[in-house]
Amino acid sequence: MVAEKVLPMHAPMNMFPVDAGELMVGGMPLTQLAARVGRTPFYAYDRALLERRVGELRAALPPAIKLHYAMKANPMPALVCHMAGLVDGIDVASGGELKVALDAGTDPHEVSFAGPGKSCGELRQAVAAGILINIESFREIDELAALSQELGLPARVAVRVNPDFELKSSGMKMGGGPKQFGIDAEQVPQALAEIGRHGSSRLAFEGFHLFAGSQNLKAASIVEAQCKSYELALRLAAHAPTPVRFLNLGGGFGIPYFPGEQRLDLAPIGANLAALVQRAGVELPAAELVIELGRYLVGEAGIYVTRVVDRKLSRGQLFLVVDGGLHHHLSASGNFGQVIRKNYPVTIGNHMVAPEMEIATVVGPLCTPLDLLADRMELARAEPGDLVVIFQSGAYGASASPQAFLGHPAVVEVLV
Ligand SMILES: *Cc1c(COP(=O)(O)O)cnc(C)c1O
Repeated sequence: MVAEKVLPMHAPMNMFPVDAGELMVGGMPLTQLAARVGRTPFYAYDRALLERRVGELRAALPPAIKLHYAMKANPMPALVCHMAGLVDGIDVASGGELKVALDAGTDPHEVSFAGPGKSCGELRQAVAAGILINIESFREIDELAALSQELGLPARVAVRVNPDFELKSSGMKMGGGPKQFGIDAEQVPQALAEIGRHGSSRLAFEGFHLFAGSQNLKAASIVEAQCKSYELALRLAAHAPTPVRFLNLGGGFGIPYFPGEQRLDLAPIGANLAALVQRAGVELPAAELVIELGRYLVGEAGIYVTRVVDRKLSRGQLFLVVDGGLHHHLSASGNFGQVIRKNYPVTIGNHMVAPEMEIATVVGPLCTPLDLLADRMELARAEPGDLVVIFQSGAYGASASPQAFLGHPAVVEVLV
């Protein structure tokens, strides 16, 4: 008799409970969920975990802070609909995302639109919808003024600022230095003057948007970026045509993926935001403070599930070949902007309590060595038919992957 042992996980993956040796997803054993979905591979997003995450965040942040969901992290319509009921606003980054956000029933007043290279068609959609547009170039100012005239509607605008600082230790920097995002801080006074010249019946100025970076696990770096963003916005507010009513301090909250990474400590961020809310009450009394998060809200609530098709030994190395891969989950393969490939947390979801462990490499069906989901990880012994689960897959999964590559079927997504 081999003593049963509970598998060690990589990063602390305790979001989904385990019962009778199976991962429980949406209150259901994984094998039952797979049967319900009808085929593998699939993504499953857990409603209760999404609610829990928003609840924990709200508890840690001052009540005056508005919470927006940046839907590019996961644009699945049913999920956006669910999120729309939990957060205070949705941030979109294309005309296509705008449609999903409005279909989800979001009040257009609570939708904002950021992104470089907004087309004239997208800007027209945005003005007609009455959403807030984060202006990122001088071209957009002129175009919006003309569209406002054409449609007979004011364009609600904020200026997205490319700050003169960076979000330190970020997975992806999106501000500071030369960037395609936003208007450089030193040019913002000129942009504000131009906005003012068009008059508020054409360009209704509402405030500023700053977004410095993404996937940050250091609370101190986020606190520093939020303080600097506030200071910069305060300086720029002196040039604004009307009082600032909206100040989006960005986000950048990360989630743990790799061994040794810890969950972000929200307490210092909450305390800092409380101090900023206090200051804004005096210095920018008309402004509501917003943070916008994508990955942090949805990333940990989702898994990718793929079935073992083959089990083979090659010169002493064990390969589990599965029916899903980088075409559905580019980031887990390490090819979504990562410099060094590391394993996402992976488990065999129907053998969560296993008598036997082995070192296995999980690969997909694509004819490329890049199609690697787990490189020599300790996993429960798995056979064809077993279910490999990749955690931390609720953000930048299906929509951020090259699904047409090699002609396999598209992935199924379920909200449970
Ligand atoms: C991508 C993006 C986000 C979301 O980033 P996360 O790291 O997923 O939280 C928020 N705001 C803007 C402007 C973005 O481009």
